[in-house]
Amino acid sequence: MFASLQELIKESEKTGKSLAELVIAAEVSTSGLSAEAIRAKMLERLRTMQYSAQQGLDKPIKSISGISGGSAHKFWHWLDGNKPVTGSLLSKALARALAVNEVNAGMGCIVATPTAGSAGILPATLITLQEAYEFSDDEVVDALFVASGIGMVVVNRANVSGAMGGCQAETGSAAAMAAGASVALMGGNPRQVTHAVGITLKNMLGLVCDPVAGLVEVPCVKRNAAGAAQCFVAIDLALAGIESIIPPDEVIDAMANIGRVMHKDLKETGLGGLAATPTGKSLAAKVWRDS
Ligand code: SF4
Repeated sequence: MFASLQELIKESEKTGKSLAELVIAAEVSTSGLSAEAIRAKMLERLRTMQYSAQQGLDKPIKSISGISGGSAHKFWHWLDGNKPVTGSLLSKALARALAVNEVNAGMGCIVATPTAGSAGILPATLITLQEAYEFSDDEVVDALFVASGIGMVVVNRANVSGAMGGCQAETGSAAAMAAGASVALMGGNPRQVTHAVGITLKNMLGLVCDPVAGLVEVPCVKRNAAGAAQCFVAIDLALAGIESIIPPDEVIDAMANIGRVMHKDLKETGLGGLAATPTGKSLAAKVWRDS
């Protein structure tokens, strides 16, 4: 189901259904649940996303290992009385992306979108747009179904696992899902949605998975903020009608191919990249000595 983004566009044009309607119909046929029940489940997910984002802003959350935490709260309060160069919208998304991932590192409840390590990007983007443009929960739920459809295509053509494809597959896919969902939320057409996916993912190709001590904290938390920023770049470009020269489905295929040739040290083993720096190694030694 949904082997390509192109298929989603064609189906939408043929049936006159929105991307969200197509994804809900597919879910109805595979789950046997009613559309209302499926929407209700997605609303529950949205509530969890909103809660986790707020939790991370309200108080400093430290990870169990102690090597990360507190950045979201610190940044959120810094925004009071400072003029962030990222502007009021993106800066709030950055804070929320950090927040959700700090809640994850603190063993709190998050929604994996598509993974726990990349769980901050989608909620940060959609909640920030919801607040700024006063979208209803129903509209955001529709956008979450668009994100799900994009995720299905990525999984069918590539993967969303850092262990298989590097961080491009995790935070890259999350940012691509968030960008496409956001474009749909902002009123973009299906073609613009898919080009937001293509633009985002191609800017994150080659990103390696190099977690310090093998824990989803460093660099993961801040990579979620960076993923949200990439997503914001693509939203405006796509809404302006700018397209990815490489078709979005081919960008996903390129991500899969890059993941295949990426060295194993850079695929969640904690052996390469930042994990292999002197500081990364000494943090890992401290974490495992103290545990
Ligand atoms: S570095 Fe690895 S573990 Fe961390 S977010 Fe990226 S893919 Fe996930």
